[in-house]
Amino acid sequence: METFSIFDGLLDISYLIASVAFIVGLKMQSSPDSARKGNILAAAGMGLATLATVIFTGLDENAHLINYVVVFFGLATGSVIGAYLAKTVKMTGMPEMVSLLNGYGGATSLLLALNEYFHLANPHNNDSLADAGALVKVSLVLGLLVGGVTFTGSVVAWGKLQGKIKDINLPGQQFINMAMLLASVVLGAMLVVDTEAQWAILSAIIAISLVYGYFFVMPIGGADMPVVIALLNSFSGVAGIFAGFLVNNNAMIIGGILVGSSGTILAVLMCNAMNRSLLNVLIGNFGGSSGASGADGGEKSHKEVSVQDAAIMCNYASKVIIVPGYGMAVAQAQHAVHAVDKLLEANGVEVLYAIHPVAGRMPGHMNVLLAEADVPYDKLLELEAANEQFKTADVVLIIGANDVVNPAANEDPGSPIYGMPVLNVYEAKNVIVFKRSMKPGYAGIENPLFFRPNSSMLFGDAKDMIDKLAQEIKSL
Ligand code: NDP
Repeated sequence: METFSIFDGLLDISYLIASVAFIVGLKMQSSPDSARKGNILAAAGMGLATLATVIFTGLDENAHLINYVVVFFGLATGSVIGAYLAKTVKMTGMPEMVSLLNGYGGATSLLLALNEYFHLANPHNNDSLADAGALVKVSLVLGLLVGGVTFTGSVVAWGKLQGKIKDINLPGQQFINMAMLLASVVLGAMLVVDTEAQWAILSAIIAISLVYGYFFVMPIGGADMPVVIALLNSFSGVAGIFAGFLVNNNAMIIGGILVGSSGTILAVLMCNAMNRSLLNVLIGNFGGSSGASGADGGEKSHKEVSVQDAAIMCNYASKVIIVPGYGMAVAQAQHAVHAVDKLLEANGVEVLYAIHPVAGRMPGHMNVLLAEADVPYDKLLELEAANEQFKTADVVLIIGANDVVNPAANEDPGSPIYGMPVLNVYEAKNVIVFKRSMKPGYAGIENPLFFRPNSSMLFGDAKDMIDKLAQEIKSL
């Protein structure tokens, strides 16, 4: 019988502190002012949990021998690679990075479950498959399944965001997926009830989970990737919970619960922002990369505006609303945008920012960029509040946004984005769109806003054009 040692107590206290750090850190991330500190706090909690596990488990006389050289080599290598990636990743590449991190989480849970199966199947160990309880075996099977799905699903999501993998929808895809789900339930049940090692069943479960992850994400349209990534994030948390049960690690279980629940909440919030159900996102194949066009298909013409005229319109307006989008992130125009904002305010113009929940390429993308440029947080309007303000705005400046200001979402029942809440910028007196061409945005659909009588295009890189706008305003 194992005895309770002082090291077990120290480990439990460390896990308790780490768990409090995760929860408080997560709470702090709900406000841009405290988000950075919250992230550091949660990371410190994870560091404490990791080091405490290695040190206290190694010192415990009941524990298996720990090869410190291997463990610290792994920790150092992972930390150096992680720090390098975090420093070098571009803001526009964050969703891809999150997707890969989800995939690593899933793969880790799968490997932990596999390791536990090897341990239980080894006749030289005290524990055996015959003695293992149902909870352990169910956790093991679910750790393998959810971990595998998360791994390949996240890799496919990463490939899609990178533009390396195109949407594929096989005929009868839903039936193939259902058959795989059913097979995994039957095989999982067989593994749970069996007291002998069943390597063929184990291999089949792993293979199905990996293939299922691929088929799960493959048909989902590109514009739905944020929801899928939030969902895979939640899967990685759930896989972590099962792995935590297996290795009896409370910090892992609590961390997994937090990741699992926050990922699910985020996925649901995003679906609400698009006015769609989660099921519709998963089977609807909305917003693929097919380059769909507008509904009427007729000849349309747009008009252009010069920087000088744009400067005059803004300078003599009472209220200007800025709508940032993915193009602002690409051009890194946030500082230039804030400079124009300050110039206009100095001239007595009220300047506000309208933030769509899925503008850019990750949740909160615009908030992060504008916070980096020191734009006061109280100037940022959420979707509903912004839609109240457009009617009384003289000028709306759209900086590299497209899908999130597409009126087809309100007006064209045939549009793939019909029903998605958008910023009703067309209600303003004048709309100026900063982008480089007439090309569509992420969802690949035409934007009728650009052809409205109150809209004008200002073509060019957003940062260059905003800099020029600032120069013109100064010269007025
Ligand atoms: P869009 O992708 O719809 O449009 C961005 C526009 O920016 C393009 O039309 C492009 O036009 C323009 N642009 C690109 N580079 C520059 C530049 N250097 N200077 C000026 N303009 C530029 O962006 P939105 O923010 O409006 O919408 C986000 C879309 O991304 C939605 O469809 C959303 O579902 C999806 N998405 C959102 C995620 C999230 O979590 N926020 C994650 C993944 C996808 P041009 O090429 O002509 O310059």
